[in-house]
Amino acid sequence: MEGFEMIYLDNASTTKMFDECVDIHKEFSCNRFFNPSALSGSSLEVSKLIADAEKYFLHRLGARVGNVLFTGCATESNNLAIKGSVRSGDWEYVFSAGEHPSVYNVAKKLELDGYVVHFVPLQKNGQIDVKALEKVLNEKTRLISVMHVNNETGAINDLKKISDLKMKYCPRALLHVDGVQGFMKIPFVLSDTAVDLYSFSGHKFHAPKGIAGLYVKNKNSLKELFNGGGQQYLLRSGTENVSGIMQMKKAVELINEKENFEKVKKLKENFNDALISMGAVKLTENELLTLHDFVGNHENFSGIIINDFHGSPYIENLIFSGVKGETMLHALDSAGVIVGLGSACSSKKAGNRVLEQIGIDKETIISSVRVSFNAYMTTEEIQNAVKIIAECYADIKRRVQ
Ligand code: PLP
Repeated sequence: MEGFEMIYLDNASTTKMFDECVDIHKEFSCNRFFNPSALSGSSLEVSKLIADAEKYFLHRLGARVGNVLFTGCATESNNLAIKGSVRSGDWEYVFSAGEHPSVYNVAKKLELDGYVVHFVPLQKNGQIDVKALEKVLNEKTRLISVMHVNNETGAINDLKKISDLKMKYCPRALLHVDGVQGFMKIPFVLSDTAVDLYSFSGHKFHAPKGIAGLYVKNKNSLKELFNGGGQQYLLRSGTENVSGIMQMKKAVELINEKENFEKVKKLKENFNDALISMGAVKLTENELLTLHDFVGNHENFSGIIINDFHGSPYIENLIFSGVKGETMLHALDSAGVIVGLGSACSSKKAGNRVLEQIGIDKETIISSVRVSFNAYMTTEEIQNAVKIIAECYADIKRRVQ
């Protein structure tokens, strides 16, 4: 990507918009700016384009039936999916303990309001513990909400396995998936699963901020959150963000998620190999995850530890032993590399619920940084980023000791 000087390794937080979206924005804001619900021929044309976009999204999701609602952000999609599924009566609601705040905090609120809510723990590899999930599912389960890819660790949940459990124990339940870190990144086909609701967000795949979607298999399973003109199937009122929808469609047209997956896998391998050649160590699948144990087991190792959780190639964690992640983040920022500290939404808060949940100790979490890639980075950028990371770390350690 041109026109940006920094090396950007915080793509799980947001991505740089494709240049191609700018022309589309202008076209649908200054030229074909019509309200899709009005009755002029121009409005009807725009309305038809939204219907075409919806079909295109269904196709790219791999859905055979259902609809897509266009929303303002995935936080809205997740709220609509969960609150819109709630029914009075003797129902139970099931969430993974590793969900993004836009799901987790809704679940907490349901619990506070007196609903029966189960939080299913995560395994050490960051995936939901399916054995524990199996134990809580029953004929009273109304909703299961499990994310596709974890935004902090990159762990990928097995949606087929979760679907099988739903069909076995509670076929009437709705299965909602927060697909924000999965859509356009991890190749998958929705119709291979029993997913009923799937959220995604444009700004995570090079479309603008302020446009997102919610796949809904059966419109009758959901209730609207806001009363209004009922523009989208009486489930999401408000004039559609036409320009946003068309820009998000353009971004999807430009992405080949299978090719990108392979590209990013290679970029990450490159990144890790370069870090290892500079003395970093990569955790193996069965490795203890606490820094204390790790250092003890590796003869007082003092360096960079790579923890990639064997999930999405787009995300991994680096542990800088002896140095705070936040200190590294600011040093790297000054040196031209942007990284993240877990979820951007929660990074201003102390601690990290998801990393704690999978058994990583506080000391390790404090020393962690999240790096996340995109498919349009060059190998040169990756190599330069590694050099800068190694130099910054060595520099800080020299000053601290
Ligand atoms: N879900 C996940 C997994 C995310 O990573 C994010 C954003 O960080 C969201 C939901 C919220 O997305 P949005 O910014 O579109 O509200």
